[in-house]
Amino acid sequence: MAKTAVKVGKLIDGNGGPVIDRGVVVIDGKRIAAVGSQSEVTIPPDATIIDEPGLTAMPGMMDLHLHIAQFNTLTFRNYRVAQFEVSPELQQLYALFHAQLCFERGFTTLRDEGLMSTRGLLTEHTIAVRDAIALGVFAGPRIIVSAFTVGTGSHLDLILPRAMLRNPAATADGVDEMRKLARQNLLRGADWLKTCASGGGGTDKESPQVRNHTQDELNAVCDEAHAQHAYCSIHCFTPQSQAMAIEAGADTIEHMVFHSDEMIEAIVSHGIPVCPTLLHRTDHAIEVRRTIGTPQFTLDKMKKIQPFTFETFAAMQKAGVKIFMGTDMGQEPDMGSNAMELEIYVKLGMTPMEAILTTTRNAAEAVHLDEDLGTLDVGKYADLLLVDGNPAEDITVLQPRENIKAVMKEGKIYVDRRKGSEKDVIDVEYASWALADG
Ligand SMILES: [Zn+2]
Repeated sequence: MAKTAVKVGKLIDGNGGPVIDRGVVVIDGKRIAAVGSQSEVTIPPDATIIDEPGLTAMPGMMDLHLHIAQFNTLTFRNYRVAQFEVSPELQQLYALFHAQLCFERGFTTLRDEGLMSTRGLLTEHTIAVRDAIALGVFAGPRIIVSAFTVGTGSHLDLILPRAMLRNPAATADGVDEMRKLARQNLLRGADWLKTCASGGGGTDKESPQVRNHTQDELNAVCDEAHAQHAYCSIHCFTPQSQAMAIEAGADTIEHMVFHSDEMIEAIVSHGIPVCPTLLHRTDHAIEVRRTIGTPQFTLDKMKKIQPFTFETFAAMQKAGVKIFMGTDMGQEPDMGSNAMELEIYVKLGMTPMEAILTTTRNAAEAVHLDEDLGTLDVGKYADLLLVDGNPAEDITVLQPRENIKAVMKEGKIYVDRRKGSEKDVIDVEYASWALADG
């Protein structure tokens, strides 16, 4: 097995402690063999040395709520046109491309939170992308697939136009059908199931407090996931829906948006991690949405819920909710710019180091991958980044693509933008591609 020693000016190990000056990570094959200060760690004589005293090493980042098969603004112009003009097969190829856009910006693990196309669920399409990358056929991030397991007319069904003829196999109603759809998704190879307990920002004209499923249906989805050692994530906007998700045994709560003190207390006491997806709520996101055919009522609603979302985040942070990073990236702002989410967390009260933890250690814990991922510790996979700047001082240094100097996954360097190197996973000139619905 090839050994590599990565020597850096600063080392952030993802455990939240002080930044280590003049650090080193020793990698043996796919995993970390030693880590710490250069004065304390012995570098094996047969190791290849990477010496970058001007750079910071940190664990690969994770975006654990996004939709890679969604019509991204980088590859589509109008999502409503794209819904009808793009086949699921083309969407699948874009899913790979979108995953790579995140990967080359430092995101080594993604949890895809599912999608539906005009022809039905995209579960198998996303799973094939996940597997092609895992098999090493394509370069890209590790993908966790969370498959839509939802009822007719639920928030996630309404991502498609109301008047559209639907594939009846894409949704389920009643406990038995819900169990069957859950089992089918798990049979196809889903790692997680994704369901919804309330309406959302883009689909309901009035209050998002719409009961999407009965308690029995939600319980059935979570129960099927757990029966097969998989997990269940539940979209919730309102305290009523949060209560239903807790009762069902949700493994993660997505969005939150509105809160009550009572629900925050319950989430803390149950230890359920929450993914806030704030980038999706910014003025920038609203403007991007405006350009891609989003109805005015949705834009108005996004603006209206924005302050509640930010208040809820601050309240969760104060109460000690386990927060992990997700962007809801799909339609907006731009696939690959995911690290902008962390800047919002800092603006709302986290320290830069706390924000880093949401996308490293705490993220890995939220999806039960912390034995292998999330920190630079001995025995874990060598998923690491070399960054120009110190994100523990300035979280925004993680945003520009030119600052992400190297991306390593399981000990292999996939992106290398250091002096004299020009290695990337995307082999077309950036933004030279045509729009699929152009
Ligand atoms: Zn989402």
